[in-house]
Amino acid sequence: MQKFDFQEFVTALDAGQQAHLEWSRRILRCTVLRSFPDDDVMHNDAHHLCQFGQFLAQHLITFTSINAEQTQRLVTVHQQMHDTIRNLARPISQGLAGNIEDLEHFERCQAELIDHLAYFKTQAIYHYTQIDNLTGLPLRQRLIQEFRGQQQQCSGALALMFIDVDHFKSINDLYGHNMGDTVLQQLVLRIHDVLNIDQSMYRYGGEEFIIMLCAAQVKQAEALAELIRHTVYHTPIVHQDDATIQISVTIGVALARHQEPLVSVIERADKAMYYGKQHGRNRVINADHITLENKS
Ligand code: GH3
Ligand code: MG
Ligand code: MG
Repeated sequence: MQKFDFQEFVTALDAGQQAHLEWSRRILRCTVLRSFPDDDVMHNDAHHLCQFGQFLAQHLITFTSINAEQTQRLVTVHQQMHDTIRNLARPISQGLAGNIEDLEHFERCQAELIDHLAYFKTQAIYHYTQIDNLTGLPLRQRLIQEFRGQQQQCSGALALMFIDVDHFKSINDLYGHNMGDTVLQQLVLRIHDVLNIDQSMYRYGGEEFIIMLCAAQVKQAEALAELIRHTVYHTPIVHQDDATIQISVTIGVALARHQEPLVSVIERADKAMYYGKQHGRNRVINADHITLENKS
């Protein structure tokens, strides 16, 4: 599930950039007024002491999750910028001229830092548009992007589960739309608890979810689907006054065939799910089984 609040990250990133501009402004003032800069300029550890450095440390995991290599470069260039400004500030504070190479290096580092921040901001906004606000799950667009890579990497069977909540409309009708939202959130938490780190779940549409996993064999995917069905059915959602709401899901499982396009796998999983709806709901159906049945 989505672990980071990218909206909060973008706001923090703007604040971090402002802090850096403020830091630059103070350096310019010190240079013009010939006053001595603070620790966040002169200290050997200034890159950790400055506000921007603190912001960087606090959000390092988020930066890394977006692009680990570029995060490393951002950290390095920020430190280099501080090292260079310290070299520049020493002669200036003694009334001497600074070194032109240092000045140009500082300018290059600062320009690179700003470029990195623009990249991370764009990426964070892009990530944010692909995440469902209600459940924190990635949306359909992400599934489309990730499917090909998974298909190439998976040495076993790449399986898709199409999960649809049974009679969800009547939950909204009985308990109200807000409770319906809570039910969807709780459902996602329950399913998430039984998934491994490498099994991805997406919100496909309203009360429809897709799980993509690389299974050793068909049986493994079916067993996981059955565990999800069982867990959801046997873990009722607590409503007010300790009353509970029991929900169930119907799941269609389809294995991607060699080079099969995503739309086709989804269509087969969806058909299997629909077959499950017609045969009593609260069940797991393997797409290959209904193909066989229909042929006979
Ligand atoms: P079935 O067992 O055949 O799937 O019946 P169903 O009632 O689950 O299916 P139907 O498609 O008739 O209704 C789905 C409902 O899900 C209708 C829609 O209002 C509701 N829904 C979709 N997205 C959300 C959401 O984000 N929050 C809430 N509360 N309801 C939602
Ligand atoms: Mg539906
Ligand atoms: Mg439904």
